[in-house]
Amino acid sequence: MRRKGFIIAALLVVLGGIGFGVASFSGLFSDAKKMLFPPSPVILIVIDALRADRLGQYGYDLDTSPGLNDLASHSTMFSHCYTNAPWTRPAMATLFTGLHPIRHSVTRQTSLSDNAVTLAESLKLAGMNTVGISLNPNVSKRTGMNQGFDLFEEMFGSSMAAYLNVKEMRRLARMWYRGKSKDSYFLFMLPMNVHGPYKVPRSKREVLLGRKPTRGFSYRKTAMKNVMLSGNAAEARTRVTPKQIRSLQEKYDTAVRYTTDQLGTFFEYLKSKGYYKEALIIVTSDHGEELFEHGGFSHGFTLYNELLHVPLFVKLPFQTQANVVDEQVVLADIYPTIMDLLDLEVPQAIDGESFAHLLEDEAREELSSPSNRGTEVFSVAWPGRCVAQAVIERPWKLIKISSNYEGLENETFLFNVETDPGETENLAGQYPDLVKYLSKKIEKDVASFVGRGTYAKNLVIDSEMKEQLKALGYIQ
Ligand SMILES: [Zn+2]
Repeated sequence: MRRKGFIIAALLVVLGGIGFGVASFSGLFSDAKKMLFPPSPVILIVIDALRADRLGQYGYDLDTSPGLNDLASHSTMFSHCYTNAPWTRPAMATLFTGLHPIRHSVTRQTSLSDNAVTLAESLKLAGMNTVGISLNPNVSKRTGMNQGFDLFEEMFGSSMAAYLNVKEMRRLARMWYRGKSKDSYFLFMLPMNVHGPYKVPRSKREVLLGRKPTRGFSYRKTAMKNVMLSGNAAEARTRVTPKQIRSLQEKYDTAVRYTTDQLGTFFEYLKSKGYYKEALIIVTSDHGEELFEHGGFSHGFTLYNELLHVPLFVKLPFQTQANVVDEQVVLADIYPTIMDLLDLEVPQAIDGESFAHLLEDEAREELSSPSNRGTEVFSVAWPGRCVAQAVIERPWKLIKISSNYEGLENETFLFNVETDPGETENLAGQYPDLVKYLSKKIEKDVASFVGRGTYAKNLVIDSEMKEQLKALGYIQ
């Protein structure tokens, strides 16, 4: 009953918000280059904790994402998109601002500064109606992520299973469309079912495997919590059984299937109402998920590719062809790209770079040779979990760990990610010059981020938020 009441209350809030706060053009863009009126609608869907390699479109051998097949058939798929940080709050702050995590300074203790001009703020200023639906407390009013949204629905309870299913999110979006008052809008959605505990309604649990996922893994049980505990991890891992790992992977994959099926249904709805073709649609993720490839699970603990490599599909308005882009892009690039495509300017110095030119066939031909976009620095700053930086310059990836939950300190890892995509063989000892060269790149980039100025804002975590974050495993 409580849950039903929660959903109804949530629906009423959304209904009450329909038509609320239609943005007006503020004049900030009066000097902008020829702006298109009205800007194309923008739909940004960030599937929390979705790894690229678990999607059929990215080569996974299970049929986890037929719901995205249609989108993939007329969008550009990026085979090398990476998140700048391996957990929600800094990753989403980067996606929303185009700032590197070192610059926006959003960590466990801080929220997003009001001084950062977000994607939603920019689009609102351009006259768009901005709507966000978040099921993750890390993307909330408390963390400053609602900046620029005329309507921002945050729906999360205080218990582990309290996040709404993506189906409810889809219904909320549909209700918003029914009352929609402007042609030009930005819709952001953050579904959570691929995030632990990988909730899938009972009736959908057999869809992927033809049977329910194997039992054994439990996100909430002490055995799994201990794997993530600083100082306890190595010993706790020895007690995790292959059956538990299989169970975890099957539950994760089933959640991917459920979520992408729901998105497929949502896209069908948009088509039936005539909202689909004209929209710029972007589907991506904030980070991946460790499923014991390197001994641990969840996210925020490492900079391996199971956490950094995320899917990215971009459908331009009226796009009819499928494209695949091999160039490396990062979440920080999405904001400037959207602005570029709408012929708007980012009103602030940011770190991401537009990849709009990669979305056009002719430009892509010219850029098929390696470009200067090959290098990106990734970072995580979570004492007790992981403090580290990494750089990818294909085929090489360097990870420098200052400290982590496994007790590692000042360790360096070098991988050839083309020949060893699982990042299993540390080649740092074999190639000292390469380590030196890539370490310098990290140092140089970090110095440049710091030199450009950082943003900071304190966050006071109240007891309610503490419970919500605890329920999701963000704090112990
Ligand atoms: Zn997340």
